[in-house]
Amino acid sequence: MLSDTAALFHHAGDNRTPLLAFNIITLEHAHAVLRAAEVAGQPVILQISENAARYHHGPAALIAACRVLAQTSTTSVSLHLDHVASVELLHLAADLGVSSIMVDGSRLPDQENIAFTKDSATWAHQHHLFVEAELGAIGGKGHPHTHGVRTDPAHAAAFVAQTGIDALAVAVGSQHAMTTRTAELDQALIQRLARSVPVPLVLHGSSGIADDALRLAVGSGIVKVNVGTLLNVAFTNAVRDTLAADLQQVDPRGYLGAARTATETAVLHLFHALIPTTAIDHGAGAHLTRPQSPPGPTDPIPTDEREAGDGAGLTAVPTAVPAEDARPCRRRRQQA
Ligand SMILES: [Zn+2]
Repeated sequence: MLSDTAALFHHAGDNRTPLLAFNIITLEHAHAVLRAAEVAGQPVILQISENAARYHHGPAALIAACRVLAQTSTTSVSLHLDHVASVELLHLAADLGVSSIMVDGSRLPDQENIAFTKDSATWAHQHHLFVEAELGAIGGKGHPHTHGVRTDPAHAAAFVAQTGIDALAVAVGSQHAMTTRTAELDQALIQRLARSVPVPLVLHGSSGIADDALRLAVGSGIVKVNVGTLLNVAFTNAVRDTLAADLQQVDPRGYLGAARTATETAVLHLFHALIPTTAIDHGAGAHLTRPQSPPGPTDPIPTDEREAGDGAGLTAVPTAVPAEDARPCRRRRQQA
């Protein structure tokens, strides 16, 4: 069923599980992710990046398809616009049926990123959207996810306070578009960020991180885990293998079907790798509704939980999601 991203963050906090988000490029990606999430019994975010929207000559068609699939899914699904740098796309978001957006001003100089993110978040909140953002080029002039660039905890806390965002993407060692899972995360930095930043932390570039390191990152304080390239590796390898095995193959359903199955397997592997069996077995993602009393600033996360590094200390409570944001989110879901 169609849910909203704020509710999924609440679910993650209540169940101490990470919130998995997958980048959708084709319809096969969406089918594969939802099927895997249903098998795992977990909620999931389908996210469409500005680049993917551009590939489809605009965001509307792919998001509409994802919305229909979400509405008919047996698990809770939210729709998210990822890496939005265009004000035009931002202003389309409210009419597209997504419940959250990632504002990407990370390539801007710091002060411009703050202004762009603050203005975008103000607009998005007025339209009942949950807002994720990313810091500028802290510690270097490259992209925040570039090797060696790290998010400073004090700077991150100030950025959240200045912009009013609801979740923060941090640079802790991952990089986008890695096809090997060999990147090393700075787990100690994640723990420091989790203690300093009052909103959930988001890891981009998770495809380049091995399962064990991802589990540690979740224990250290990462809440939302973004995955894109891992799906595309599985997808493309299946297409390549299928076509190589049958040079007479011309029906797209032959090789795209294989790609969809391979992608589903990769997604399901990640659910099982990151979420304990007990969480999967009780079907927590099905029929998810927003809690009656969403956690807020009056429900602080105990310090000892934030500092735990063994997976028990998942700091998932979205303290920056004010209760007033919950009402329009509920209305959005009921209208669906
Ligand atoms: Zn990203």
